[in-house]
Amino acid sequence: MTLTVTGSINIDHVIRLPQFPRPGETLTGNDYRIVPGGKGANQAVAAARAGAVTQLVACVGEDPMAASLVAGFAADGINTSAIDTVAGVNTGVALIQVNDTGENTIALAAGANAALTPERLQSHASALHCKQLLLQLEIPLETNLAAARLARAEGARVVLNPAPAQALPAELLALVDLITPNETEAERLTGVAVNDEAGAAAAARALHQQGIATVIITLGARGVWLSEQGHGRRIPGFAVKAVDTTAAGDTFNGALVAALQRGQALEPAVRFAQAAAALSVTRPGAQTSVPYRAEIEALLE
Ligand code: ATP
Repeated sequence: MTLTVTGSINIDHVIRLPQFPRPGETLTGNDYRIVPGGKGANQAVAAARAGAVTQLVACVGEDPMAASLVAGFAADGINTSAIDTVAGVNTGVALIQVNDTGENTIALAAGANAALTPERLQSHASALHCKQLLLQLEIPLETNLAAARLARAEGARVVLNPAPAQALPAELLALVDLITPNETEAERLTGVAVNDEAGAAAAARALHQQGIATVIITLGARGVWLSEQGHGRRIPGFAVKAVDTTAAGDTFNGALVAALQRGQALEPAVRFAQAAAALSVTRPGAQTSVPYRAEIEALLE
């Protein structure tokens, strides 16, 4: 059985600048690239490169870049049969600024991602007959709910990366087996500030109370807070020189589910995912920075 990712596909326009412009300010950047992105696509690519048989359920627009994006997923071995081309709209777009310290700001236009409705999902219901379903929040919320319901009914593990940050209905959280917020997202979901390990533990407890068995709060360069049924501990990340953290979280999520898909226990799967994410921050871009299984295993040796 496959790993299914349901989510967004974006075209990322990435500009590197010494610092972020303030409101009303114009700054000239020193590098500009167009690269494939979108949380759904990034996570599917990360899972496939990390070794999982992966299917992506998503939408692109009718623009000239869409076909080459889909061809790129196929080249990564992803099953693209549930990627629809939607007439009359553009593929989703992200305008990304990266500063000299590797931080980013991102502005999104949903485009075709907004057309991934529950009705459209229903036409790809067979893809939800999977071992694991990985979701994020760049498609309509009701579609994520429908996907989680369908996959759960088939006995799949539902993994939610609750990004970008937003509050979520208890109904969706109750369908989730494993959740992977970063610090900001954990605070948005629980109201608990995650500034230290006590905060991470309290936020994880609040998420367990919503019915989620496993909580992984990603802490950037400090690693993750892993909490199972209320028993929590920090697992440090890998020390690397960050040049661009875009898609660190996406790489972490894709690699994590890939390791779980082949039966790894949670803690080794987290180590594998952290190694993958650490490699991704040493390289520019989103999908361009996602590593392959052999490189990840080399870092773990
Ligand atoms: P982004 O939105 O930038 O994709 P995120 O906020 O979703 O990322 P983070 O918590 O920043 O997620 O990072 C996810 C994981 O990536 C971390 O748990 C860690 O393992 C790894 N990571 C992130 N930044 C670094 C870094 N500077 N050095 C090493 N590992 C990192």
